[in-house]
Amino acid sequence: MISISALHKYFGSNHVLNNINLEIQDGEVVVIIGPSGSGKSTLLRCINYLETFTQGSIRIHGEEVGPQSQDGKMTRLDEKRLNALRQGLGMVFQGFNLFPHKSVLDNIMMAPIDLQHLSRTEAKTRAMKLLQQVDLQDKAEAMPASLSGGQKQRIAIARALAMEPQVMLFDEPTSALDPEMVGEVLKVMEKLAKTGMTMIVVTHEMNFARHIADKVCFMEHGQIIDSGAPEDIFSRSNDSRVGKFVNKLE
Ligand code: ATP
Ligand code: MG
Repeated sequence: MISISALHKYFGSNHVLNNINLEIQDGEVVVIIGPSGSGKSTLLRCINYLETFTQGSIRIHGEEVGPQSQDGKMTRLDEKRLNALRQGLGMVFQGFNLFPHKSVLDNIMMAPIDLQHLSRTEAKTRAMKLLQQVDLQDKAEAMPASLSGGQKQRIAIARALAMEPQVMLFDEPTSALDPEMVGEVLKVMEKLAKTGMTMIVVTHEMNFARHIADKVCFMEHGQIIDSGAPEDIFSRSNDSRVGKFVNKLE
């Protein structure tokens, strides 16, 4: 379970996250929507401890991370513990960030070998299983440059899954893709959701939000100003902020 409570984040005088409270149960898929600059990426980065925050707490499976202290260090957790926690969180970004000079297989095998000390054989078995899951077994030996955007993103998902995370975070995973490739990536994400993976997904894909999410959160100006089951959120009237936002996108 992830529990975010009274979270505040400033960049200088910019109040980027303003009292975020959010609970995510194991196996839940939470979709975060909202206009540009509303703080969606910053929230994900705080959950992944890529970003420190000013006030509040984030608790992941019982382990709590507090705000940044005066001396610039995270309170309560040392760097080693933080790295261990980070490993439980897989992250997929808009850009694919694959290592260009490594094969698909090596991209997926690297972290388990380096960080979890798997043997090459074990890592390869795991990687091949994941390639099957994202339907790209035949690309094991390919180099990233030879893949389409959709294929790259599916490999990026497989690579994140290779660390066997408990939670997967997605930040606009389909925004950089040509429209015809969006579907294949969403399909992999939908399949993953059905396996019971806990997922937090920032996306503008309203169909995914409507059909796959357990909960949709609408962010604006650093606040979650509306949240609920998709059927509730998508039936909000045009007079409401979220109604206006959603209807403009659809
Ligand atoms: P988008 O939909 O465009 O990705 P977003 O909802 O993800 O937007 P964030 O990227 O979280 O928004 O940004 C929220 C606010 O924080 C913006 O005002 C942005 O300019 C500011 N911001 C983000 N990162 C930094 C940073 N590293 N330093 C200073 N300000 C930042
Ligand atoms: Mg963003």
